[in-house]
Amino acid sequence: MNSAEIRQKFLDFFASKQHQIVPSAPIVVKDDPTLMFINSGMAPFKDYFLGNKPAPSKRIADTQKCLRVSGKHNDLEEVGYDTYHHTMFEMLGNWSFGDYFKKEALEWSWELLTEVYKLPKDRLYVSVFQGDDSENLPMDQNAFNIWKSMIAEDRILMGSKKDNFWEMGDTGPCGPCSEIHVDLRTEEERAQVDGKSLVNNDHPQVVEIWNNVFMEFNRLADGSLVKLPAQHVDTGMGFERLCMAIQGKRSNYDTDVFQPLIQYVAKEAGVKYGENEKTDIAIRVISDHIRAIAFTIADGQLPSNNKAGYVIRRILRRAVRYGFTFLDFKKPFLFKLAEVLADQMAHVFPELKQQLGFVQRVIEEEENAFLRTLENGLKRLDALEESFKQNNNTIDGKTAFELYDTFGFPLDLTALIAREKGFTVDEAGFGVEMEQQKNRSRNASATEQTDWIILQPDVVNEFIGYDCDTSASHIVRYRQVKTKNKSEYHLVLDKTPFYAESGGQVGDTGYLISDSEQVEVMDTKKENDLILHITPKLPQNVEAGFRAEIDAERRNMIRRNHSATHLLHAALRSALGEHVQQRGSLVNEKLLRFDFSHFAKVEEAELRQIEHMVNKRVRESIPLEESRNVPIEEAKQMGAMALFGEKYGDFVRVISFGREHSVELCGGTHVLNTGNIGYFKIVSESSVAAGVRRIEAITGDAAEEYMQQQVNELHAVREAMNTQSNVSGAVQKLQEDYKALQKQLEQFELKQLGSLKDTLAQNAQQLNGINLVAERVDVSSSDYLKKLAFDMRQVVDNLVLVLAAEIDGKPQIAVMLSDNLVSEKNMNASQMVRELAKEIQGGGGGQPFYATAGGKNSAGLATVPGKAVELVKSLL
Ligand code: ATP
Ligand code: MG
Repeated sequence: MNSAEIRQKFLDFFASKQHQIVPSAPIVVKDDPTLMFINSGMAPFKDYFLGNKPAPSKRIADTQKCLRVSGKHNDLEEVGYDTYHHTMFEMLGNWSFGDYFKKEALEWSWELLTEVYKLPKDRLYVSVFQGDDSENLPMDQNAFNIWKSMIAEDRILMGSKKDNFWEMGDTGPCGPCSEIHVDLRTEEERAQVDGKSLVNNDHPQVVEIWNNVFMEFNRLADGSLVKLPAQHVDTGMGFERLCMAIQGKRSNYDTDVFQPLIQYVAKEAGVKYGENEKTDIAIRVISDHIRAIAFTIADGQLPSNNKAGYVIRRILRRAVRYGFTFLDFKKPFLFKLAEVLADQMAHVFPELKQQLGFVQRVIEEEENAFLRTLENGLKRLDALEESFKQNNNTIDGKTAFELYDTFGFPLDLTALIAREKGFTVDEAGFGVEMEQQKNRSRNASATEQTDWIILQPDVVNEFIGYDCDTSASHIVRYRQVKTKNKSEYHLVLDKTPFYAESGGQVGDTGYLISDSEQVEVMDTKKENDLILHITPKLPQNVEAGFRAEIDAERRNMIRRNHSATHLLHAALRSALGEHVQQRGSLVNEKLLRFDFSHFAKVEEAELRQIEHMVNKRVRESIPLEESRNVPIEEAKQMGAMALFGEKYGDFVRVISFGREHSVELCGGTHVLNTGNIGYFKIVSESSVAAGVRRIEAITGDAAEEYMQQQVNELHAVREAMNTQSNVSGAVQKLQEDYKALQKQLEQFELKQLGSLKDTLAQNAQQLNGINLVAERVDVSSSDYLKKLAFDMRQVVDNLVLVLAAEIDGKPQIAVMLSDNLVSEKNMNASQMVRELAKEIQGGGGGQPFYATAGGKNSAGLATVPGKAVELVKSLL
């Protein structure tokens, strides 16, 4: 069975058990401050477990893209060294939301593995939660009994909290679980060592493939467990491990999931996979990492310097450095692999193939940038070699950390280079620096939040802000959030007109007003589907009725900018081409910012055209057509632009301004008629990343003000130029006149310089066969001073020339000697200028025949000629 068939069989099996099959959610998480990437199949469904939102269906199954490189689940260090942990992997899962429980879940998993996939029963082990006294949790007798009816009792193992109590994060849904492990060793190996003893013992051929979690609890911030409103099933099976088991391989990398990538990398590197441990690891690391990199970029996360973006950048650098060091890839190579992956995955995850050109461009640019710093880092190491030698042949922790921090060198790379040169690295010192940095960032961002205080359970918060600016509301839950120097509250209302920041649009501000008080809402944010009203204080009476009122004036400005963003998007596509895709956006009361894929600078003429197209739509006063709760398929038929990285939802909201013109999936707030935008003006166009451009624009009052400012400026110029017509012509003429004058001035100065030279030559003093000229002169630039010195050298033999001048308010000295004085009389202009510079409190140097000095004290210039005569006399 190939991997595509294996995946399909899973989905078909659960479809036959009345599960709704849904597509994978994007791997990048948008509205959850506790999670950057989806790390398990259940993460997109968190709200259903917590009861924040009803599940669209009681039974769901899917394959979910997961990433485990940060937070509670982090397998990064294992990847490449072992054969069964990946950064990005697919998790096959089936869910029951308050529907079936342990019996069905375990029986179906057994049926699928042994009857559909036909895995031999005598190679499978299962585990059951043994209970935990400290948490007051009993053993899972129920699961044990269910297993006993299907599998020999000695194949059922008892597991501790570490392995058999699953938790998504530090807080959130959790519960006991039951794992299924498979033993893939040869018959001989199995005869020698009992497989049971190897379960959960890091053996590469005895691995966990499936985990059935029985969600019963919610872990609170204080560490305690409370029962969830309903019991759920959450299962997760590692797709790549399943393929290994079914295809009888000893490593995930030997399956057809990874082989196309492995073979491609090996061929590019000119090595064979499976012959050398070091190159094998590098090939595995690269084949693994490209999946994480490509899929996260396709789902909307660009590599960057912080948060989720930095996670991607780190993975990418790790891959580049393995290629650089072990496979001799000195040029970008990862981006090529993205194509192999896209082709391979097109039938399951088409998003990568659809954006391949863009994804490759981003990767290649990142690779180029890192390869450059890699080289600079290596140079930096070379430059410091002497100091390492003096430091006991050790690279100190500070330097190792600088390499890590500034040049992106992982510590092991520094250690490797050190070894080649016979040095060691002070790893402890590195650790100290690292810890200090962590503390710095931890202190800055440490927040502490209390558990929710629930006032009205089972109330789902409703957003009514598309239709109203105010509402009569009650608080249904709240919590306090403390950071280092402030404390604020998150309030959730039963009904609210406040738009929570999302889709690029900022959150609303406003007030909650009761009979006795008024509480400011400083911002509104989303946590999954909860709308959090952020307030500086808690209302005195949290159970009072409130009038929730947004700052409507501000919201109107936001509306204009948001609708204008849609018109801009449409105009860009029609002016530049269909390759233009939204890459990010910001819409607030001041401006709109739109990032989009495009490969070149948008020219001035194109910008004017785009602006005109938008303003045309504005003047056409196209009414808003808003459709809520549209099935996603229908939305696509309406021509809605597909947005990558959108979370799967059965129903979406469609916003159009003229069906043939602009149709988008959007949750934001909009003007009722494009005419309300008033006027649209682009204020800047720039680049944000490889293949991504950014346009900033303004609308309404802001655009009017901006234009007024421009006009005022023009008036001021007119006034200054004293002309009413053809201002630019007048300015151009002024510039030309200025240039001509400058030229004249130059010629004049050169002429003067000529006569100055003649005067100086005539005034030369004879001293023992030397022609000494030491004078204070008047020249306007260092260049002229130099020219004068070199010209003198042409016309006077045996010359000792000392010139002192004040240039741009600062004293300067130049000393020029004829060559024969240097060679025969051992005179030295550098030494002389340094001596003379004392007069002006300065210093300088140069060559033996010509040297200059600058200083601080212009008054000293007067004594320089006299000093020079004395100095020359002393030298003769
Ligand atoms: P392990 O102990 O092997 O790391 P886990 O306990 O972390 O596994 P779960 O969180 O229960 O795993 O995830 C469910 C399934 O997902 C596992 O049974 C396994 O098949 C798969 N899985 C987990 N982590 C990875 C990974 N990093 N790469 C590939 N598959 C994984
Ligand atoms: Mg794990």
